[in-house]
Amino acid sequence: MIIDLKSLRNSGKEEESFYFDYVPENQLSDIPNVKVSSVKVNGKVYLEGFHSAYIEGEINYFLSGDCTRCLEETTKEYVIGFAENADNEDETGYPVVNDKVDLTKIVEDAIMTNLPVSFLCKEDCKGLCTECGANLNKDSEHKCKIKEGN
Ligand SMILES: [Zn+2]
Ligand SMILES: [Zn+2]
Repeated sequence: MIIDLKSLRNSGKEEESFYFDYVPENQLSDIPNVKVSSVKVNGKVYLEGFHSAYIEGEINYFLSGDCTRCLEETTKEYVIGFAENADNEDETGYPVVNDKVDLTKIVEDAIMTNLPVSFLCKEDCKGLCTECGANLNKDSEHKCKIKEGN
């Protein structure tokens, strides 16, 4: 999503709420076989000065893919906040190009810096049996006997 600061300014407002959702085209996750499957963004943009803005909000994103431990297909929701400046003169912030700010870039940077290190179907996932490869979360499917002290 692109925020047009000019049209916001022309409307006489100094701030505006926004909402958008989308499916990312870029591979944002570096966890094997896990992708960001959808993103929802709620936020507010504040005009500051003539060519700058402050943007803050909340991102809900979903990761879908294989549990790192047991390989079961899993989808989980994550919520993160973000707050960034966009300014066409300050090189430390996000750029303002033709009075427009690329909000998707801000959102995707926030997701990538906040990705979990591992992706588990549940915190206490038991993983796979090293003997037979069965999913140890499903006792009924696990036939082999694990010897004590092994
Ligand atoms: Zn698991
Ligand atoms: Zn086993």
